Amino acid sequence: MAGAELVELAKRRGFFFGANGAYGGTAGFYTFGPQGAALKRNLEDAWRDRFTLREGNREIEAPTVMPEAVFEASGHLEGFDDMLVECGECGESHRADHLVEDATGIEDAEALPGEEVEELIRDHDVACPSCGSPLAGRDVEDFNLMFATDIGPGDGQPGYLRPETAQGIFVEFPRLKEYARGSLPFGITQIGPAYRNEISPRGGLLRLREFTQAELEQFIDPEADEPPLDRVEDVEVRLYPATAQDEEDGEYLDTTVGEAVAEGIIGSPWVGYYLGVAQEWYERVGVDTDRFRFRQHLAGERAHYAADCWDAESEVDGDWIEIAGFAYRGDYDLSKHDAYGDDSFTVFKRYDEPKTVERATVDPDMSVLGPEFGGDAAAVAEALETLAGRDPDAFEGETVTVEVGEGDERETHEVDADVASFSIETVTESGEHITPHVVEPSFGVGRTVQTLLAHAYETDEVDGEERTYLSLAPEIAPRDAAVFPLVTNDEPLTDLADRVASDLRAAGLAVAYDDSGSIGRRYRRQDEVGTPFCVTVDRDGVEGDGPETVTVRERDSAAQVRVPVADLADELAALRTGGTFDDLIDRYGSVDTDVETTEN
Ligand code: AMP
Repeated sequence: MAGAELVELAKRRGFFFGANGAYGGTAGFYTFGPQGAALKRNLEDAWRDRFTLREGNREIEAPTVMPEAVFEASGHLEGFDDMLVECGECGESHRADHLVEDATGIEDAEALPGEEVEELIRDHDVACPSCGSPLAGRDVEDFNLMFATDIGPGDGQPGYLRPETAQGIFVEFPRLKEYARGSLPFGITQIGPAYRNEISPRGGLLRLREFTQAELEQFIDPEADEPPLDRVEDVEVRLYPATAQDEEDGEYLDTTVGEAVAEGIIGSPWVGYYLGVAQEWYERVGVDTDRFRFRQHLAGERAHYAADCWDAESEVDGDWIEIAGFAYRGDYDLSKHDAYGDDSFTVFKRYDEPKTVERATVDPDMSVLGPEFGGDAAAVAEALETLAGRDPDAFEGETVTVEVGEGDERETHEVDADVASFSIETVTESGEHITPHVVEPSFGVGRTVQTLLAHAYETDEVDGEERTYLSLAPEIAPRDAAVFPLVTNDEPLTDLADRVASDLRAAGLAVAYDDSGSIGRRYRRQDEVGTPFCVTVDRDGVEGDGPETVTVRERDSAAQVRVPVADLADELAALRTGGTFDDLIDRYGSVDTDVETTEN
């Protein structure tokens, strides 16, 4: 199904649609309709279950608006840019790197300098996709993707909507480490909105200006902590390593997580671990594994601090889209906040045994430094201290040379070695402060929703009629079941249907009730939004002395079983959490009912 068709279908069936339609629409913002909001919530719950609860991690919820200083530290203010080229004719803005990629087949034009992209636009006669005018000669500019705002009235503080949920975790590290009692490794997750003022939003939920991320920041001691790789070593993955992407006919590597890590194809065991966990999770929520791969970042694509990066990519409408990123980020994030922020972003790592070490110290005589260096005295004392740690031999002569001040103000001073009062002390240390490293799996929720819809879309024939259905996993489907009274003019039957629906709801299941139109039509309606099970209340179920029964029909196979009403909630709950319909058929026997044709 073409991408535009999927977006249209999503709108018709209540999954998602462009927001603010009554005011002309706002590109890059989507509203999730009743089906989509339920699907998205189920997907987030499944993510929370796997990446927070089952990993023993903890989830937080930080504000979406953050002060400028945070993004100065993180580097977003300086470098969170995309390449913008504006059409001189119609004024439309475009991603210059994407236009160049389309025109040349270059894979990551984003990594090229702006001038080179301008040249490529000129050399390949790239035209404006909106009006067709040539873009040659237009400037390619860096456009910062953050939405700016003011915090407070008047000359309040400048702030930004967070462009990723991760920063809300990093800036709170000083407190979060206390909750973890200062002990590594620990993981913090967050699911919530992120904002990027994308130059050209497109493809339904694929490139939005407001979207939901589910991120995990795993804080580790790089020297001591190992992931529990044995849990996922046999998980089969399809990898697209950087080397294969560079080759003309480079191929996928179908392997296991264990082998890929052992052979160094996946550089970091932690990244390997999370690729394995993610592979299992994507299968669980219904991503078609034949349309899924992990692609390694090319060297130019990778942030300078990131040692190894892989993206989870799904195929949607013939294109590969990044649905999650997995990065080994080293100590970049925490050391930046440590340098810019006021609190400490390190943890104290206790040694197994206390260590005795020799440490060079100085005890400068300020009564001499003060008169000699005036306003520079404190800086001279500090410089002596730093020098003692770095180069104790510098104190061997009669004088010591230090430099203080910045830039043009920088000055060299000579200090008497006696005045510095240098000595080597023997101290016992019980541990040291280290900056944890970060491993980050970062998921896009909307892109995953769109992938699931694209991969779940099926057509077949039932009772000689063509039907389309969404083969969504029961755990993810917007509704757990739908309840139908077979006919509407039979009171015992409608009473039972009402009761069945309200009992299922009381048991925590999301249930639709539909008594309008032919039963065949009602099945189709539910098939189209992916409801996995339809419960029909018919005469056979209320007649006789036996227990009340209903039929349960499975969406994909259209097979049916007759189940006692008393067991229904438990059976449906089991189906939601991984039970199979075949088990139900084994226990209750399949019924060849003719309900699809006998309604009145
Ligand atoms: P990034 O921080 O760019 O690696 O993004 C992490 C994840 O967020 C990506 O893998 C996407 O799934 C998702 N994402 C990033 N940008 C957008 C966007 N503009 N619209 C929707 N999802 C996005």
